[in-house]
Amino acid sequence: MNSGEEIFRSFKDPALAAAVAERLSRLRPKAELTLMHVCGTHEHAVARAGIRSLLPEGVRLVAGPGCPVCVCPAADIDLALQAAQRDGVIVATFGDMFRVPAQDASLEILRAEGCDVRVIYSPLDAVRIAADNPDSTVVFLAVGFETTAGPIAAALESPLPSNLTLITSLRLIPPALAFLIGRACAALDGLILPGHVSTVLGRAGYAFLEGERGVPAVIAGFDPVDILLALAELIEMALQGNHRRVRNLYRRAVAEQGNERARAAIGRVFEVVDSSWRGIGTIPGSGLALRGEFRRLDAQTVLGLERRDGAEDTRPDCICHEVILGESEPESCPLFARACTPRRPCGPCMVSSEGTCRARYQYRRAPVS
Ligand code: SF4
Repeated sequence: MNSGEEIFRSFKDPALAAAVAERLSRLRPKAELTLMHVCGTHEHAVARAGIRSLLPEGVRLVAGPGCPVCVCPAADIDLALQAAQRDGVIVATFGDMFRVPAQDASLEILRAEGCDVRVIYSPLDAVRIAADNPDSTVVFLAVGFETTAGPIAAALESPLPSNLTLITSLRLIPPALAFLIGRACAALDGLILPGHVSTVLGRAGYAFLEGERGVPAVIAGFDPVDILLALAELIEMALQGNHRRVRNLYRRAVAEQGNERARAAIGRVFEVVDSSWRGIGTIPGSGLALRGEFRRLDAQTVLGLERRDGAEDTRPDCICHEVILGESEPESCPLFARACTPRRPCGPCMVSSEGTCRARYQYRRAPVS
């Protein structure tokens, strides 16, 4: 085993996890602390390993808007639904988007009714579908954060078939973090920063968190040891009153300056715009739209789709908008594990494999009989 493999294995080591959990259990915060992560993969890791049960008394770990599918507004999905119902149109999107409901429909339902909707695994799949179907217009519903925007930008800079178009629902994490810590009702004592997005942004991409209005923050990976270390670090920072530092505990994947080539590609293809987040509303400078010559690929313009910004983001009783902001736990939703399950999801947080409700459902404890 080479040293790289050893490093990766060590973060899965149960003995090391137990030692860090012991370090965590000895911490005694002087006041109640609310910590937030903003990553669906972190929520899965936390729920799967039962990490919340290891938190010291008075410490809460809540899930923020870390699932790109969950924050995709109904108005964006509605555009894809309109497109899918046109003759000669193929809609292609990532698997999780397939089942997200909007206006009592979803791409899955439309496919069952005969529309041509395809699940893809990479932006290049959309390019290939367009090349293979020159008589159709292919609409790629592009959803994701910085991690996904990079490969999409690279794909769009390659030679493209003329029948490829996009609905872009790409969002940026730093403006969302600034929004979260700036909310009047927010009382966040620390952030676990998303490992995947951080590979693009680098530690330097969070410099704003070290400013006057920042909070302690830690970039973390996804193994139990990563997350336990991040929690211990944040609580220790709070105990020391050592606010507004961003520490990188995921150095095996995240460089100080991140991936500059990916950011450059994103900057050539997209421009930063104000964007709507499901359940949150518009966050300034938090989205990406096609820029310059790439605007020719805009599906809304090419197909004359009508954007309906009033589209309902959540159905009655669904509290996804509160779950996305970390204001409510999934278990407090009256539909959780009753009317709303992964097989019959009522909201996006139960649909997506990165959704908070889905993670809590998947790893919930069976009731004691
Ligand atoms: Fe929405 Fe279902 Fe989660 Fe309730 S359990 S908040 S209905 S996704």
